[in-house]
Amino acid sequence: MNQTPDYIKELRSQFPILKTKVYGKDLVYFDNAATTQKPLQVIERIQSYYTSENSNIHRGVHHLSQVATQDYEDARKLIQKHIGSNKESEIIFTKGTTDGINLVASSYGELLKEGDEILISAMEHHSNIVPWQLIAQKKNLSLKVIPIHENGELNMASFDELLSEKTKLISITHISNTLGTINPIKEIIKKAHIFGAKVLIDGAQSIQHGEINVSELDCDFFVFSGHKIFGPTGIGVLYGKEALLESMPPYQGGGDMIKRVSFDHTSFNELPFKFEAGTPNIIGGIALGTAIKFLKSIDTEQAFSYEKALLNYAEQELKKIDEMTIIGTATEKTSLVSFNVGQIHPFDIGTLLDKQGIAVRTGHHCTQPLMDFFKISGTLRASFAFYNTIEEVDVFIAALKRSLSLLK
Ligand code: PMP
Repeated sequence: MNQTPDYIKELRSQFPILKTKVYGKDLVYFDNAATTQKPLQVIERIQSYYTSENSNIHRGVHHLSQVATQDYEDARKLIQKHIGSNKESEIIFTKGTTDGINLVASSYGELLKEGDEILISAMEHHSNIVPWQLIAQKKNLSLKVIPIHENGELNMASFDELLSEKTKLISITHISNTLGTINPIKEIIKKAHIFGAKVLIDGAQSIQHGEINVSELDCDFFVFSGHKIFGPTGIGVLYGKEALLESMPPYQGGGDMIKRVSFDHTSFNELPFKFEAGTPNIIGGIALGTAIKFLKSIDTEQAFSYEKALLNYAEQELKKIDEMTIIGTATEKTSLVSFNVGQIHPFDIGTLLDKQGIAVRTGHHCTQPLMDFFKISGTLRASFAFYNTIEEVDVFIAALKRSLSLLK
């Protein structure tokens, strides 16, 4: 790769934080899988909300409440269209991916019976493991794990063997936050439905790297976090098929999720409000809508294919380094690279990179079972967004070589 294209430079200029200096060096932000940076539009929207709109929503007759309610519900519509859902009732605002999975585990889990099986995979984030362990324990369900191959791809032959009439739900990540593997979710969903099993897709790492259409995918649930798609923290989305959400009991009780309360009996609000107890993260929802508008304003096809080229370039340069092990070499892979160099602890390299202005992540990435599979304690992970540049990859590689020369 030669130089960063002008359209990427233009996009980048909309993210003020990227001009930051760290220890006097230009910030190189390669921790996008943990959270993405925010464009000016999103930052300004948060400020304008608190400056001229702040109020509580849904229950107010006054002007500010009506404006805020309208903006919050408009954001829901925007998100609904953006992910290809047919109804607003299918878009539940949550705190994030973790919250969405916990909601489904607790609520859909209540409908399951002893002996029913849930499938997850060996590459799941802890937030797509622990909620299932909790409900499995409570309801005597069986939690089974689809194994992976050494290159970080799912073992689809094992998946076929594990899938049966007993399988009630498959909860699986679209893209692994540690390996970058893109899982064949279309095939998984199709096969699951033959057995009547429902499928939850953890879209935490896919929503910001490609088009998602839940209707085309035909998934039963799809969850993601706002902060990984250029929006704020503390907001996320659970998409669920309407009939399924209708059949599920409420997750939390409180204001907004009720129709009528007496001490003898409470009736519940309609979807999506049945699952949204209490005052929500109002500006979170609105600003997530702004982040989606930002995405819609750019040429995402071009941006996403640039991201892929950036990953290929980074991997090509990393492979030239002695004793480099790249963890996760699936054919279908995107946006991030995990690696170790010899026996050096990832934390030591990460600390030296930080001193050179480079933000990468080190550790187990909330995937300890995956670390056990690879028999390692952690990795270094560089994860990219379309605002990263080729020059930043060069700075990163040079800084990595400098760090290694100090540690070897
Ligand atoms: N699943 C995956 C694949 C993730 O990468 C993450 C975040 N690292 C999560 C779930 C949890 O997301 P959050 O912390 O935003 O709830």
